[in-house]
Amino acid sequence: MEQTLGAFRGPDAPDLDELRTCVHCGICLPQCPTYRVLGEEMDSPRGRIYLMRAAAEGRIGLTPTFAHHLDLCLGCRACETACPSGVKFGSLLEATRIQLRRHGPPPRHRRLEDVILSVFPEPARLGVALAAFRLYRRSGLRRLVRATRVLRPFPRLAALEALLDDVPAAESLPPLIPARGTARGRVGLLTGCVQRHLYPGVNRDTARLLALAGYEVVVPRAQGCCGALELHAGRAEAFRSRARALAAAFPDDLDFVVANAAGCGSAMKEYGRWLPATAGFAARVRDVAEVLVEADLPLGPLPLTVTYHDACHLAHGQRVRQAPRALLRRIPGLTLVELGDSDLCCGSAGVYNLLEPALARELLALKVARIVETGARVVATGNPGCLLQIAQGCRQRGLDVTLVHPVELLARAVAVRAAGRRGASAPPSEASETD
Ligand code: SF4
Ligand code: SF4
Repeated sequence: MEQTLGAFRGPDAPDLDELRTCVHCGICLPQCPTYRVLGEEMDSPRGRIYLMRAAAEGRIGLTPTFAHHLDLCLGCRACETACPSGVKFGSLLEATRIQLRRHGPPPRHRRLEDVILSVFPEPARLGVALAAFRLYRRSGLRRLVRATRVLRPFPRLAALEALLDDVPAAESLPPLIPARGTARGRVGLLTGCVQRHLYPGVNRDTARLLALAGYEVVVPRAQGCCGALELHAGRAEAFRSRARALAAAFPDDLDFVVANAAGCGSAMKEYGRWLPATAGFAARVRDVAEVLVEADLPLGPLPLTVTYHDACHLAHGQRVRQAPRALLRRIPGLTLVELGDSDLCCGSAGVYNLLEPALARELLALKVARIVETGARVVATGNPGCLLQIAQGCRQRGLDVTLVHPVELLARAVAVRAAGRRGASAPPSEASETD
């Protein structure tokens, strides 16, 4: 007989004991982006936990109203960081979304979600879609679409159109990149879906820095998507199948599996909860900043003022806050200015900015206003979704601000140091340290 827990049925139900650890203190409320914008108790962590618990205790059903408040959650996990009782909000939300997908009302934006999830996690399809976008942009059609405001009645399509600026040429990394200097070990590199197509330079710089730090870098050709988007959408079966395939694509003898996209790294570190057979793989996952902070990279000066945005799934999901800052501070000449509300979600949140564009826009406006306060012309952040979202916000406000992944600044500093050495004493034929 199928197990039931109130309105929840079968496997993957949220844990009732975990739900009961919330003591309703409200300390998390000011940290919750949706509560800050909407001011509604049911759009706060405490309100959402109340709803989940009421459903688990059979006092309410999985109604459209229930689903709406859970849909509006960004899954940013800022409430987890704030909570003194240690409520694991992220896993409660994911389990509830799995239940909603299986037993709840149809998602409000089902068709759009279906389209997005049939393209984004599929690198080949995403490549084709982005090639079509490149044509759209370069043919002048984009100028026409914007001038005629033809997308105005379709806010979600308009959000997607506005998000992308240009699409770089495709690049691929060799399957094996040898270590430089003293060998430290062997790591695998996740190339990701969005990262691979929209920020190939971030993958290239990550691989070079890891090699320079003494790691042999394995880049499995067969690797696919990590499944994070599907997990956040409650599509448990698709997520598990991707997690199984990704773990199998990497060899077993790696010291670490390195991710440079916060959302991917966070999901991969938690594979074991949803698929115990992948727990060993999950234990080896590291964000690139966690690995590089242990290395002694040769860095030349970059006279830049930079501010740093904490990607939610790095700061709250993986609790990695200091390593990226420490790395940036090591670059001679670079001034790191702290960003107000640096760990407040920018509104990207996977594909939230496409599904809930109005709320995402409000959060983006808050983020951009804080960036302006810093006076920095460079913003560093460790997640491709945040890079896209914040770059768009800065473009729309006409700001001359560049968005970069921290590894891009580190790679540039390494190149400056190498060029300085060559200029000073090395023979002209000496290979660059980043080659
Ligand atoms: S995950 Fe983020 S948006 Fe959702 S309740 Fe927690 S703080 Fe609020
Ligand atoms: S989730 Fe934590 S911080 Fe928020 S109301 Fe419950 S116990 Fe308090």
